[in-house]
Amino acid sequence: MLQTIVPEAYKIDFLDVPVPKVGNDQVLIKIKRVGICGSDIQVYHGKHKYMTFPIVQGHEVAGIITEVGKNIERFKIGDKVTVQPQNVCGKCYPCSIGRYNVCENLRVMGIHDPGMCVEYFLVNASKVLKLPNDMEFDTGALVEPTAVGVHAVKKIGEIKGSNVVVLGAGAIGNLTAQAAKALGANKVMITDIKDKRLDIAKNSDIDYCINTMKVDLGDAIKEHFGSKGADAIIDCAAVKATINQAIYNARRASKIIVVGNFKEKIEIEMPMLQRQEIDLIGVMMYIEEDFKDAINLLQENKIKTDGIITNYFDIRQFKEAYDYIDNHMDDVIKVMLKLED
Ligand SMILES: [Zn+2]
Ligand SMILES: [Zn+2]
Repeated sequence: MLQTIVPEAYKIDFLDVPVPKVGNDQVLIKIKRVGICGSDIQVYHGKHKYMTFPIVQGHEVAGIITEVGKNIERFKIGDKVTVQPQNVCGKCYPCSIGRYNVCENLRVMGIHDPGMCVEYFLVNASKVLKLPNDMEFDTGALVEPTAVGVHAVKKIGEIKGSNVVVLGAGAIGNLTAQAAKALGANKVMITDIKDKRLDIAKNSDIDYCINTMKVDLGDAIKEHFGSKGADAIIDCAAVKATINQAIYNARRASKIIVVGNFKEKIEIEMPMLQRQEIDLIGVMMYIEEDFKDAINLLQENKIKTDGIITNYFDIRQFKEAYDYIDNHMDDVIKVMLKLED
């Protein structure tokens, strides 16, 4: 079977390896789609903080079960599935309170442990979630990034009736904004500096889509949310400009939630944060419940995927896909790798 591997930055090898043998607690999945995200690009560039080469990438997938271990009754051959790509220790303090997404020994498939850019992926069945039979593989591969958004939105706490701003209208930003709406937010505003991303957000039924190169965020919040302002601002861009934009425009006694991955240390307006008693909350990935909620929201069409996948490449064009992303940063939202029969 085909196995892709990144042996060093900017290089992808295509290997022919045996199909792995299924253990009693495992399932074998024929992978059909793999989404590429920002952290994959960081890994490919050799810039991801917690990675080592060589690595098999891929952590946003949809596929079909082709073999089931002896002890597994939950799945059968032909089931459509996705994978929750976190390997955790189950013993540390965060694990003991159910917050294994910040396990002290967290290993993410595709970043620390082998990922799913392979023809057949062997995995412990406990990491596998069933997708509805009529869900498209494309949608199934968007469950993982959607779960990121669901997890972030839950950190707001009482979401019903609240007004939410999401900074950054890439795939995660768009899905997070939609998750906020789907989970009960009153109105949701999304911002970006690229019109193309905002056009896609408009098609996703996000209430207000603001280009902050053209409109001041504070003015937009005042205009649309009135004097109460935003109850929460979710930073999905995570650069110095956006986190400080969040702090400057956050209402007193509100929340800022950081979803995007900062690549470096930055200076923030700490005195302002403190004086206005703003909660600054970091989030990391998701837990299984978020995955299940993401599957349901996508299935019920409460989160729409139209326009989010901007490009497809065959798995054999993996390198071309990365080259394309590097050269079309402004146009790309989500690039999907296809593995056909
Ligand atoms: Zn990702
Ligand atoms: Zn742990």
